[in-house]
Amino acid sequence: MRDKTVTSSEELHKRRGAAVSRGVSSMLASYVEHASGGTLTDVDGREWIDFGSGIAVTSIGNSAPRVVEAVKAQVERFTHTCFMVAPYESYVAVCEQLNSLTPGDHDKRSALFNSGAEAVENAVKIARHTTGRQAVVAFDHAYHGRTNLTMALTAKSMPYKHRFGPFAGEIYRVPMSYPLRDGGLTGAAAAARSLDLIEKQIGAENVAAVLIEPIQGEGGFVVPAPGFLPALSAWASANGALLIADEIQTGFCRTGDWFASEHESVVPDLVTTAKGIAGGLPLAGVTGRTDIMDAIHPGGLGGTYGGNPIACAAALASIETMRELDLCSAARRLETVMRPRLNELATRHAFIGDVRGRGAMIAIELVEPETDGPGGPTPNASATQAVAKACHASGLLVLTCGTYGNVLRFLPPLVMPDDTLNRGLDILTEALASTTS
Ligand SMILES: *Cc1c(COP(=O)(O)O)cnc(C)c1O
Repeated sequence: MRDKTVTSSEELHKRRGAAVSRGVSSMLASYVEHASGGTLTDVDGREWIDFGSGIAVTSIGNSAPRVVEAVKAQVERFTHTCFMVAPYESYVAVCEQLNSLTPGDHDKRSALFNSGAEAVENAVKIARHTTGRQAVVAFDHAYHGRTNLTMALTAKSMPYKHRFGPFAGEIYRVPMSYPLRDGGLTGAAAAARSLDLIEKQIGAENVAAVLIEPIQGEGGFVVPAPGFLPALSAWASANGALLIADEIQTGFCRTGDWFASEHESVVPDLVTTAKGIAGGLPLAGVTGRTDIMDAIHPGGLGGTYGGNPIACAAALASIETMRELDLCSAARRLETVMRPRLNELATRHAFIGDVRGRGAMIAIELVEPETDGPGGPTPNASATQAVAKACHASGLLVLTCGTYGNVLRFLPPLVMPDDTLNRGLDILTEALASTTS
């Protein structure tokens, strides 16, 4: 057992300063000792209600029982063979699950990787290879990762791209549907605006893929107006381009469906998954139409660790847990608790400019009151920071996001009990009350 008298967050923070690159930062200065289905406890015994789930990863809770059991059993059988060298069943089984769970009942194939960014990189490789085209369309406020290609796909400079260039070529950015900030364009009108730019500035016949998060994550939980995604999807299929849905943050029940694309019955050509897939173990996937996925030459996709057997065992256990506990319904139910309380807070605080999201992926956008203009109300990053800090000080872990740093996002584990969720919302209520815009 850990001797509490020899380790404190303060000491660990000092050691960290002398060992860990400053380029890797943490929101909390407290160091985790253990975590469960909705709370984190630090080495000093302080507890936080977890509205972050390690950035939408531990949807089934931390150290979920089935995952612990599956990982223990696998780690005793074998830890790694490399699927490209000596294959094993669990990799195949995860691909079977991905093929059946992702949108559309067409024939599909999958490949597994280690991180979200790696999945996005591979989806782009596959799209370029199959279409014989190079241009990739990404959107304002998009986040797709921190590797060189995915930095190019990510919109925001600071902190993700600042001085890390040059970036990969043949990436083109077009406007997103962002109802609060585009004058409330309909989905069809916002899509027409983006598609017109694509046709005029890139040329339809050059586009390999249109890459989009069905609900944007790091960019601010931006929910496109209804009709936007279906219009992009229709344009892609009419023009020989692939629609890649980056469901890395939205996938695996988070938004109340297995995948957020389902909400508008969009069937992407390729889907990238990671985060919620394996209860906290690193795993990612690309799933798509068989004709696309099988067009790649043998050996063209892979990696040493991709689809590691321990991560695959955890993924199978996580998916089983999501099914057994019906966590898609749980996400919808969490929304029915969160949304009315957040809407009520918005009526009380003029600096809450928007309440949005779906399922257990909900956010509030903080603004300067009475500043509505053509680009929407002025973002209020300082109030956002103040509220987040007040929450952290009172035992609620909330994350911020957004291009303007003015969005507080709520991603509780889907297994969070109602009383814990409500206690978290109580803390948020007090933090908002103690913040003057
Ligand atoms: C987190 C995220 C990524 C990158 O995943 P990593 O595992 O951090 O590389 C890509 N796309 C979206 C939508 C994400 O939320």
